[in-house]
Amino acid sequence: MTLPITWIGTPNRHKGREGFRPEAVVVHIMEGTLASTDSWFGTTESRVSAHYGIARDGRIHQYVGESDTAFHAGRVWKPKWRSIRPGVNPNLYTVGIEHEGSGESEWPDAMYTASAKLIAEVCTRWSIPIDRAHIVGHREIYGRKTCPNDVVDLDRLIALAKAAAVTPDRFNFIPQAGTVRTRTALHIRRGAPTTAAPVVRTAPPNDKLDYVGWCSNGMSVNGNPHWYRDEDGNYFWSGATSRPTPGIVD
Ligand SMILES: [Zn+2]
Repeated sequence: MTLPITWIGTPNRHKGREGFRPEAVVVHIMEGTLASTDSWFGTTESRVSAHYGIARDGRIHQYVGESDTAFHAGRVWKPKWRSIRPGVNPNLYTVGIEHEGSGESEWPDAMYTASAKLIAEVCTRWSIPIDRAHIVGHREIYGRKTCPNDVVDLDRLIALAKAAAVTPDRFNFIPQAGTVRTRTALHIRRGAPTTAAPVVRTAPPNDKLDYVGWCSNGMSVNGNPHWYRDEDGNYFWSGATSRPTPGIVD
């Protein structure tokens, strides 16, 4: 279920995000290999980094923790990105992902797949909508760059990430049955613990819902990633029930 990621690290980062949190993912192209990127990010001389780098065969390297600031999109020039925050360094509220190769080379399926799975994980962790307003190319922030170029199909990448986000085997499961009461009207989602999954039905407030167990790494809503699973394999967010933290009776 967990994506294999190799930790590499870099001296080019800041601890924390000055009070901001990840709100979007910035897609980059390395104009080089994963190995050359490892060494480029490894030297203070370069003064650049990203959170992740992905090889053409799908291997993923990590340089900076998502809670920390990487140096990948700090300059703004004629931005086209609608959700940009005026006057705030984009590094503070984005996760940067580099991709191996040059701007002219087609992306292999393995790189699309790995990138889509990683984007799905990042977006699930930080409640980031998987859409074009939140998955952006570097040049949409810094118009003097061509990165990541035209060859990458961002719409395809987003479609793959959306599909990956609702793939059930990404999520853990703790089998323990019980019953909770809804505090508000609550959407029951088909097959996956995330708001990216379609709504099967909506339970009214103060409704009794049976569950067969729960997941603790679903989409984090208001900081709570717990979702109950019903006997049909559908999910509802625990935060809107009488037992927001599964296993703890309050
Ligand atoms: Zn870039």
